[in-house]
Amino acid sequence: MPFIAEEKIVEVQRATDIVQVIGEYLPLKKAGSRYKALCPFHDEKTPSFMVNPTTQLFYCFGCHKGGNVFTFVMAQEKVDFPEALKMLARRAGVTVTFSEKESSSEKEKTELLRINRWAAEWYHRNLMDTDAGQGVLEYVDKRGISRPMVARFLLGHSPPARAALLSAARKEGLSEQRLVQAGLVRPAIEGKDACDWFRGRLMFPIFDVRGSVIGFGARSLDGSEPKYLNTAETWLFSKGRNLYGLNFAKETAARLGKLCIVEGYTDVIMAHQHGIEWAVASCGTALTEEHVRLVRRYAGERGSPWSMTATTPDRRRHS
Ligand code: ZN
Repeated sequence: MPFIAEEKIVEVQRATDIVQVIGEYLPLKKAGSRYKALCPFHDEKTPSFMVNPTTQLFYCFGCHKGGNVFTFVMAQEKVDFPEALKMLARRAGVTVTFSEKESSSEKEKTELLRINRWAAEWYHRNLMDTDAGQGVLEYVDKRGISRPMVARFLLGHSPPARAALLSAARKEGLSEQRLVQAGLVRPAIEGKDACDWFRGRLMFPIFDVRGSVIGFGARSLDGSEPKYLNTAETWLFSKGRNLYGLNFAKETAARLGKLCIVEGYTDVIMAHQHGIEWAVASCGTALTEEHVRLVRRYAGERGSPWSMTATTPDRRRHS
């Protein structure tokens, strides 16, 4: 096992709430001062799996499995301790270093997520607080999207100027190379300066299931083609592995045991606006095996959908 500084483990643990983490996997119900759920580790009809927010421990009275948040993620994701630590660190925004190579790729991922989040908020402010944004907001109003939904889904506007995001990013001291890696900026080529990838579009940040911004969908506003432009596939963002809106839909989906798959970004938003909070979309691509796995995981119809959560490639091949 690689060497990991003890303080880092403590730092990750401090920044992590076991109820929130387990709540991302199972629908937890409040039971007195604790939370309960159907145990993900054995088959049962009535919940005997308890999570204690005070001690930050979980325990199942049925199969006697228990432990802390690391134990849970290790068992649930079928990973070893360093991997579980990494997953929780990423979630908490803490950089944990292992080997040099690994730590640089972890650092890169954390930075890309930070840049995407910054860009989403920058696009959002452009929509809400600028004159150019007003026209786009009118369009959004006409489509019937309410303001609370605009805020919830963090809709934004990319200005039509050649390099508006890029110059704002430079002022923030953000790395141009990372902006290119995140698919937000086209690099300078053949004497042409670097410029923004998305211009004059209504921006839909694409979240992963934990709510991190991993990419963008962008709708043209002046009829220019393509109507929808997505972030190019990056190792952060793959259309085939992500369902738009799942971060907002997962709790309701788990509670009701169903997901509703609609076509596009606005369909998801309109569905949520009208109370269908279990709607998701497949980011403009045909449904993949990975999508179906996500659906099974978050909306398994029977008591134990969690058997689908095996994540190691080997298990996948044999299941
Ligand atoms: Zn159990």
